[in-house]
Amino acid sequence: MSALVGGCQCGQVRYESSARPLFSGNCHCREWQKATGGAYVPALAVPANSLKVTGEVKYYENRADSGNTFSRGFCPDCGSRIFGKTSGFPQFVLITAGSLDDPSSFKPAMDFFTSSAQPWDYMDPKLPKFAKQPKV
Ligand SMILES: [Zn+2]
Repeated sequence: MSALVGGCQCGQVRYESSARPLFSGNCHCREWQKATGGAYVPALAVPANSLKVTGEVKYYENRADSGNTFSRGFCPDCGSRIFGKTSGFPQFVLITAGSLDDPSSFKPAMDFFTSSAQPWDYMDPKLPKFAKQPKV
């Protein structure tokens, strides 16, 4: 995979990371379900210091079950969800796979927070499952 580039729907926010993803997978937690309106969010993690962002990103913060503060970054103009950050692991940033310019490059390697997956959510049985946060 070459540089990861992407942005929001309206183009106000753009990002780039030349790092290889630290991990990638599908997060089935309730907070991402609420944020996206879907069953899960496909996301990949990159080192925070590798990510270059242009444009204004607004963050919505809430307290995760773990006690960490989770921040979801979105474009204040078009509302696209782009980033996720947790106070427990400040060294990485999650990028939503659908925000990539080439989302087909995303290869989910695991499912996590499957304890809150919905009965109508289909998960690839071949991928490792973590009931809560992944062991990475
Ligand atoms: Zn936008």
